[in-house]
Amino acid sequence: MNKIRIGIVGYGNLGKSVELGIRQNEDMELVGIFTRRNPSTIETVTRAVAVYTMDEAKKMTEQIDVMVLCGGSMSDLPFQGPEFASLFNTVDGYDNHAQIPDYFSAMNENALEAQKICIIAGGWDPGMFSINRLYAEAILPEGNTYTFWGKGVSQGHSDAIRRIKGVMKGKQYTIPIENAIEAVRRGDRPELSTREKHHRVCFVVAEEGTDKEQIEHEIKTMPNYFADYDTEIHFITEEELEKNHPGLPHGGLIIRHGRTGLHEEHNHVIEYQLALDSNPDFTANVLVAFARAAHRLNQEGVAGAKTVVDIAPAYLSSKSAEELRKSII
Ligand code: NDP
Repeated sequence: MNKIRIGIVGYGNLGKSVELGIRQNEDMELVGIFTRRNPSTIETVTRAVAVYTMDEAKKMTEQIDVMVLCGGSMSDLPFQGPEFASLFNTVDGYDNHAQIPDYFSAMNENALEAQKICIIAGGWDPGMFSINRLYAEAILPEGNTYTFWGKGVSQGHSDAIRRIKGVMKGKQYTIPIENAIEAVRRGDRPELSTREKHHRVCFVVAEEGTDKEQIEHEIKTMPNYFADYDTEIHFITEEELEKNHPGLPHGGLIIRHGRTGLHEEHNHVIEYQLALDSNPDFTANVLVAFARAAHRLNQEGVAGAKTVVDIAPAYLSSKSAEELRKSII
């Protein structure tokens, strides 16, 4: 069996997790990691993989079947995505929800021209949550869908805290409000404001001598990030942060409450829950499964940009259709 040859573009949390995720899939091999930094300065997790400059990728189109794009959604993927779509099949976890239609168009144009396939917005949200929202709404057209995130670390909100003057380090947990979840499960179909669905808890390491009240005020009133939530702030030491808040756990819950019957007398609840010890590891494993689909579909002649909901589930599995009929169906 020819293995699917994978490349990783960008070597942050997600890139490292893709490196590890590939090891759990016997039908895949990692050809190399591509970075904007000096390759000789990069220490890879497994120490068993070649690191190249981004420029070198252009010369390796015959050696790599799928590039997993692991750059940041805010400023890397909008440029790296379309560039790589002209050369390789790609998958990515682009998570800027509002910009997904524009990103799709840019990827689609280049992918079609190059006759490559680019699966965008993989991961868990967008990604597995999108797929589950689609199934739930298609099956229960009459009803309401709710998404709750956490308990988990939001990297975007943690970054926002760290940008405040006087903050050395910080971590932010997004926590869903249990009463709201219970009301949804009961079928109350509540109208929930932002504040009624989640609250935020921050652990902050402040520089010595800084005004903690000022930091607290700046966090709590920060528009888009904290102003619409009830936010709790704890000042702790660097040692406490390292000891009590390691890793990047996350997760969440999709609930669809639907009704059927002549008088909508039958209630149905669909739930899809993720409790993730490591957000990047899980996201990476989703991308790796979609890399398999990208390779297979492109071999069948499929090109252009796709989102995760465009891909039939059997393409994700390393098992043949026959094996799936025996073991999964
Ligand atoms: P990072 O900030 O860790 O990495 C982003 C890029 O920054 C890397 O590709 C790397 O590029 C560069 N970088 C990383 N570490 C360093 C360093 N020490 N010094 C200089 N540059 C560095 O982001 P993540 O890997 O955590 O996340 C990537 C994206 O994944 C996020 O922006 C998010 O949008 C997406 N994501 C999506 C999810 C989903 O469910 N859809 C879930 C989680 C994340 P280079 O090697 O070229 O320097």
